Amino acid sequence: MKAGVIAVQGDVSEHADAVRRAAASHGVDAEVVEIRDAGVVPDCDVLLMPGGESTTISRLLHEEGIDEEIVAHVAADKPLLATCAGLIVASRDAKDDRVATLDVLDVSVDRNAFGRQADSFEAPLDVTGLDEPFPAVFIRAPVIDEVGGDVAVLASWDDDPVAVQQGSVIATSFHPELTPDSRIHDLAFFRQEHAESPAGTGADA
Ligand code: GLN
Repeated sequence: MKAGVIAVQGDVSEHADAVRRAAASHGVDAEVVEIRDAGVVPDCDVLLMPGGESTTISRLLHEEGIDEEIVAHVAADKPLLATCAGLIVASRDAKDDRVATLDVLDVSVDRNAFGRQADSFEAPLDVTGLDEPFPAVFIRAPVIDEVGGDVAVLASWDDDPVAVQQGSVIATSFHPELTPDSRIHDLAFFRQEHAESPAGTGADA
C-alpha cells in the first residue's frame, strides 16, 4: 500500500508513523511518501493531509498544483484522512479568504474556534466504529459548524462534530497522529468498504 502524506507544511512524520502502525496491524507494509510536488498523488492508494497552518497549506498546494490531484484522488473514491488544518483545507468553506478550500468534504468550519494554542486539550472521545474512547488531542482546533446531508458525524465534543466521514474521506478536528493509538488511521484506511481494495488487504471491512 502506498500512503502519501501531504508534506508542504505541518506534522508529517507522526502521520507517517501512525499509518505504518495501522498497516502493520493488518500485516500490510505501508510505503510512505512525503508529498511536496505534483505528480506523486496519482500513485498513492491513500492520502493524509496533516495539521499545521491551513492558510499556508492551501497556498502551497495551489502553487504546486497538488490541490487538483487531491480532488481527483477523492473523486476516484480513494481514502483521505484530513486532520485539523487538513480538515479546514478539505472543507467546503473555511470562512477565510486566505484558505482556498478543496471542497472534498461538505462541511463548513470555524478556524481556531476551540481557542488559542494555550487552550489545547486532550479528551477521551467516543467515536463511531471504535469500541473504546479515543484519546483526542485538540490544538487550536477548528469547529465544524455545518454538515451536509451526505456527511456522517462520527464523534462530537460539546455538541460540535469533531470527526466526520463523507464517502472515502474521514476528517477530524483533533490530532489522531499525536498519540500511539492508530485506530483513526485504521478506520480511515482499513475499515471502510471502499478502502478494502486500495489498501490491498482484502481484509474484513
Ligand atoms: N489553527 C490552525 C489553522 O487554522 C489549525 C491548527 C492545527 O492544525 N493544529 O490552520
